[in-house]
Amino acid sequence: MSEINLGIIGGGQLGSMLSIAAKKLNIKTIIYCDDIDAPAQNFCDEFMFGKYDDKEKILKFVSKVDVITYEFENIPFETLNEMNKLKAVLPKPSVNRLIQHRLAEKDFINKLNIRTTRYVGIEKKSDIETLEDFLPGILKTTTMGYDGKGQYPIKKIEDLNELNLDFSKGYMLEKLVKLKKEISVIITRFGNHNFEIYEPIENIHQDQILKHSKIPAEVSQKILEQSKDWSIRIAEELKYIGTLCVEFFIDRNENLYVNEIAPRVHNSGHLTINAYNVSQFENHVRSVCSLEKIPLKKLSNAKMINLIGDQIEPYRQNPKLNDNEFFFDYLKKEIKKKRKMGHITTLL
Ligand code: ADP
Ligand code: MG
Repeated sequence: MSEINLGIIGGGQLGSMLSIAAKKLNIKTIIYCDDIDAPAQNFCDEFMFGKYDDKEKILKFVSKVDVITYEFENIPFETLNEMNKLKAVLPKPSVNRLIQHRLAEKDFINKLNIRTTRYVGIEKKSDIETLEDFLPGILKTTTMGYDGKGQYPIKKIEDLNELNLDFSKGYMLEKLVKLKKEISVIITRFGNHNFEIYEPIENIHQDQILKHSKIPAEVSQKILEQSKDWSIRIAEELKYIGTLCVEFFIDRNENLYVNEIAPRVHNSGHLTINAYNVSQFENHVRSVCSLEKIPLKKLSNAKMINLIGDQIEPYRQNPKLNDNEFFFDYLKKEIKKKRKMGHITTLL
């Protein structure tokens, strides 16, 4: 048994898959989560329930672990920063703070001369009047959004007026891109110019939630290279440690845009579990625990389907699977509409 105890903040399916990967490497996982029913408690070695601002419990968690990582973005910066004074938090808390905030994230990407969608911050009602240029667009809360939560399509200025926004929260308006395709690139960085990168993954969203992912992505050589190049530049600039995902849009004129960055393992990378010699989860654990980096090899093409809400039910009752199909049930207690309940990866 290795001596490493890895602390993970967040107990959703990504926490489960990180725990499974860690187990394979003989690393012990301790998960801290504010959901008493967190599904990852089925997969980790030890589970702690507590709020993300409960100082006493957090100190106890920190005392049990050697290094800390996280499986979702929306953790208070203060919490990560305090933990980081005692044990290394990776990726760094400052990286999470930047990416947590959609405006700061997009400003950062543009400073690297990397294209994003056009966007504008909205702080007060009068800001709305001069926004014709950004329409049709999508209004997004600047923080706490995921799976399309906190997003409103806006066709004309009046739509914004009708929303009755609570301006104590921050918003931004983003111009709608006429999408041809969405892709993502997953990269695990171990140190300066030391990384492994997965080939771009093609993604299809339904109702702003990821539904299908596949490799290879059907994109031009130029898009393939540009998306990987931009992802490497982002990871290097952030001095990132761990696995990071960059989500991209491709428009009908073959322009590439960065949509957003996820400072963590990503849903589109579930297929790396079966399609590569080292998954995005194992690479993340290897990187944050300072283990050896293994050259990445693709074993197979693959596609993944998310099972959302009650789509899980037939598979739970009778999972008839072929040899090239892999079903993962996240073991969430309650089936809810729009909730990611499981996935199936098929090797092609
Ligand atoms: P989340 O944090 O919820 O993943 P995203 O900004 O990635 O938020 O938006 C979710 C999905 O909504 C995207 O993957 C895309 O399909 C669609 N979407 C978001 N913004 C735009 C945009 N500006 N133009 C076109 N589609 C968009
Ligand atoms: Mg997204």
